[in-house]
Amino acid sequence: TDYLKLLHEKESNARAYSRHFPLVIRKAQGIRITDTEGREFYDCLAGAGTLALGHNHETVVNAIREMLDQQIPLHTLDLATPLKISFMQELFSMLPEEMRDTSRIQFCGPTGADAVEAAIKLVKHATGGKSILAFSGGYHGSTQATMSMSGNLSKKEQLQSLLPDVHFLPFPYEYRCPFGVGEGMTARLSAQYIENLLHDCESGIAAPCGVIVETVQGEGGAIPADLEWLRELRRITAERRIPLIIDEVQTGIGRTGRMFSFEHAGIVPDVIICSKAVGGSLPMSVVIYKEELDQWKPGAHTGTFRGNQLGMAAGLATLRYIREHNVLHNVKLRSEQFMTRLQALKARFAEIGDVRGRGLMIGVEIVNPQGGKDRLGHYLQYGELASVIQQQCFRNGLIVELGGRHSAVVRFLPPLNITEKEADEVLAIFEQSVAEAVA
Ligand code: PMP
Repeated sequence: TDYLKLLHEKESNARAYSRHFPLVIRKAQGIRITDTEGREFYDCLAGAGTLALGHNHETVVNAIREMLDQQIPLHTLDLATPLKISFMQELFSMLPEEMRDTSRIQFCGPTGADAVEAAIKLVKHATGGKSILAFSGGYHGSTQATMSMSGNLSKKEQLQSLLPDVHFLPFPYEYRCPFGVGEGMTARLSAQYIENLLHDCESGIAAPCGVIVETVQGEGGAIPADLEWLRELRRITAERRIPLIIDEVQTGIGRTGRMFSFEHAGIVPDVIICSKAVGGSLPMSVVIYKEELDQWKPGAHTGTFRGNQLGMAAGLATLRYIREHNVLHNVKLRSEQFMTRLQALKARFAEIGDVRGRGLMIGVEIVNPQGGKDRLGHYLQYGELASVIQQQCFRNGLIVELGGRHSAVVRFLPPLNITEKEADEVLAIFEQSVAEAVA
């Protein structure tokens, strides 16, 4: 409590997670966190999706230890080490085959937002285009430019003069369709809208430098994009030679059950943005892109902390472990386990409006059965209740994140190697917490 008091008095008002979860972490292993009071928690926030193998996985910890023993420099700017080369080779080997020989990589600063910024600069250099097309509900970071491209307006209302020339396109959020029509049609109408808009842009007015999209919106509320829609988006952008940038910061490195989430749709983007899990728990980000986009000149994009060797060691260990232990198969099985049990819960509680996800990026949308309905006949989002459920989960030993409009979506982002037993226990706590919250 003394620690918490100090944090409350001295830490910025902008702090986020520590507001929801009043705990001071003493140690963590796998999916488990222990706080300074000896309480234990299941961590289904997992560094907002960063901890692919959970906390302190021995493979990751050993890789860091070995690196220190070998006196590999901790800081190298852009200079090479054999470790950096091994990391690049491993990451490239995981790309779809058609990208392996024709892609380049740019190491960026420590955060996802750093890489998003780099990706936008890259395509601006390459195309000469000015405007950016992004999606309603999307999230790309908290810097000024990345915020400009994020579709959540509430966080922007105090900030004037963000990046101009960002156009928002409708994301195929089937459950709350922006066009007020039912399943299937949402994606088709969204694709049609995008095609019309890009057709208008061909006149040269505010020609776009790229389209940036998440294949599953994370912060937006765990909303998977329809795969046919993604294929349409690829077709429409390819026909107009507009770079398609896929933000894999949260979805990438196995989170959705494929190494990169766009693989589900069988498409190949022009630019991929990776962070979070790519550094195996440590701060790192990269942009991978088609070599013809490499039009910027030496020094066009600099940065001091782009050579995080610790991140490369931890990232390399994580990538190898995922490949060698078939972690993607576990993601598939555990995803089915979560979805089955959560769907059953939806049938039990009217307060659960929707259960959705891809792989281990799962969302439960909380609604108000006593309130009004939207145009599709669905009850409206109920952020207050979602928050009560989140707090109840916390009291019962489970950490989950909220996302989406009105923060009404409870999000599960467990480590990718979560076991069947752990998933069962997490789901039991969630079930109990929902029952207590609605009682
Ligand atoms: N893009 C996506 C899809 C994200 O989910 C996030 C972080 N939640 C970011 C970008 C920004 O990453 P960072 O917080 O490391 O800047």
